[in-house]
Amino acid sequence: MANISDITWNDVQEHVRLTYPQLVRGWFAQLEPTHFEGGVLSIETRNRAQSRYLDRHCRQAFAEAAQAATGRLVTIEFAAPPQDLQELPDLPETDADLPLNGDYTFDDFVTGPCNRLAHAAAVSIADSPGVNYNPFFIHGSVGLGKTHLLQAICHGVKHRNGRQNGQSCRYISCEMFTNQYMEAVQSGSLYHFHQRYRDADLLVIDDVQFLSEKERSQEELFHTFNALTQSGRQIVLSADCAPREIPNLEERLVSRFNAGLVASLERPCLETRIAIVQRKARARGIDVPDDVAELIARQVDRNIRELEGALIRIDAMSQLENEPVTYDLARRALGAQPSKVVAIPTIMEVVASRMEVKVTSLQSKSRTKHITLPRHVCMYIARELTGKSFDEIGGFFGGRDHTTVLHAHRTIESRIREDVELRQQVQEIMGSVRNAI
Ligand code: ADP
Ligand code: MG
Repeated sequence: MANISDITWNDVQEHVRLTYPQLVRGWFAQLEPTHFEGGVLSIETRNRAQSRYLDRHCRQAFAEAAQAATGRLVTIEFAAPPQDLQELPDLPETDADLPLNGDYTFDDFVTGPCNRLAHAAAVSIADSPGVNYNPFFIHGSVGLGKTHLLQAICHGVKHRNGRQNGQSCRYISCEMFTNQYMEAVQSGSLYHFHQRYRDADLLVIDDVQFLSEKERSQEELFHTFNALTQSGRQIVLSADCAPREIPNLEERLVSRFNAGLVASLERPCLETRIAIVQRKARARGIDVPDDVAELIARQVDRNIRELEGALIRIDAMSQLENEPVTYDLARRALGAQPSKVVAIPTIMEVVASRMEVKVTSLQSKSRTKHITLPRHVCMYIARELTGKSFDEIGGFFGGRDHTTVLHAHRTIESRIREDVELRQQVQEIMGSVRNAI
């Protein structure tokens, strides 16, 4: 090699290692500088995948290092040996590879405490695949947004890079991966199968719990996994449980799945569910008042897909009856049974006696603290136990409007989170109300 000594090459490698440790891969030791002419340093890699990783992520790092080592302005060129280029022709990339749902984007994903970490990691991966969290493993039970996040990463990569930059992205369900593998074995076309998955820049496999007990597919995924991670390419996986909890998954896969970032999706809290309902309603062009969004979010607390289902039922009923979406219509659509047995006057009586105020004071306009708190508690319990709309409840308290009742409900809801004494008192009152029926 001309004009660059081994020592200088070692300096270059060392400089990259020290300055950009996150970019360095074990196989950097295999790189060889081939010539240095006209300020261009050519570095030979072992294969096209290595060249591509270096091109995407490391050009600047090597240029800086070579400049520091030689004291000259240097441009870097990475090249795979010619035979490797012939062996691996460019992959046809078709939309059939990416059955992505157009709605599953980051813009349409609502974040909350339940999914913040997984979302942040997904965004960072879409920005720079193969650099930070590799592999990235998302787990959570059904309907909590795994597929949505996985596909959002693919949309992000496609959007940022555009096809012409060649960042190929494969999204596949684990079941499809397994079926295609078995077909490839039977038809003797393993070469194409390998090429398809081992040459992707970003491989996303959904629902890997499907691998449970499938030994041969596990073996295949193991090799795919190694081929990709060794050349710095990104793998993203999802499952309905953590890697170690997938029944009969080989230990070597468990440890590889755990080697990057594992993030879980939890059940969303009420605020996040309300925000999701509102976002979905907007996307579908359905006008949903706040109390309806809250009704849906309260009724469906486990599965976000069911939140959408509830919204669709309400919309269908609204169209059928040619009526706007109101709390009452929503309640009918959802079959939410208003309690026939808990009556608001009963709640008022119990609250009045426990909190030492008169029932008439609860219904009065008085705003003294001594009366406001029991009144708020009363409205809160009415909402929790009767399923009546805020407006209906307001009617029992001197014709107050629904925002007053909504405010009262929110106030008590947040106070009882912190104030243990008040929480106990409210729980006792609710117990007594039920007993009074
Ligand atoms: P999983 O793959 O975990 O079973 P999905 O990703 O299919 O769940 O999500 C189910 C539905 O819920 C999808 O319609 C998805 O758009 C929606 N969803 C899930 N999480 C969110 C979120 N945080 N924001 C908006 N929609 C969400
Ligand atoms: Mg899914």
